Amino acid sequence: MKIAELFYSIQGEGALVGVPTVFVRTSGCNLRCTWCDTPYTSWQPEGTEWTLEQILDEVAAHPTRYVVVTGGEPMIAPEIVALTGRLREMDRHITIETAGTVFQPVACDLMSISPKLANSTPDDPRFSRQHERLRIQPEALAELMSRYPYQLKFVIAEPGDLDEVRALVDNCAPTGSGSF
Ligand code: SF4
Repeated sequence: MKIAELFYSIQGEGALVGVPTVFVRTSGCNLRCTWCDTPYTSWQPEGTEWTLEQILDEVAAHPTRYVVVTGGEPMIAPEIVALTGRLREMDRHITIETAGTVFQPVACDLMSISPKLANSTPDDPRFSRQHERLRIQPEALAELMSRYPYQLKFVIAEPGDLDEVRALVDNCAPTGSGSF
């Protein structure tokens, strides 16, 4: 699978902030957020092809059981189910960082979901229509939130964005779930 980078660092956000972690960043994304900070994994996908064995060997070389699979959009990586299954066999704690537009039956201990609000839509009409069509997929979000422990992350540009967040959570979050 195409990997943009694989590195050992400290998780800087969310429920596992401060935890030494191996980050596996897949290359390729189905969205095109106007403020994307990793275009080298989205609309200009860079990286090299790694076999699963190469990825797992590199993960095993670092002194932590915490692994984050991120992107880009890792849920569209062709071997994501196999990769997370193998990480599970290695007894790794698996976080997946996703925009929540695609469901795959992955092995995952923390689904870190970052649904993209309207403030993410690019102005360029060549890209805005597809981005708008894809950015919120209620069925995929509901599936991810019902099957896995999860956390939600949002990019808030202005106070009015909170109305969009509330509507999305009301529509998609299963009652009484989501605690980590
Ligand atoms: S979903 Fe993430 S990787 Fe994809 S374009 Fe948006 S910010 Fe970039």
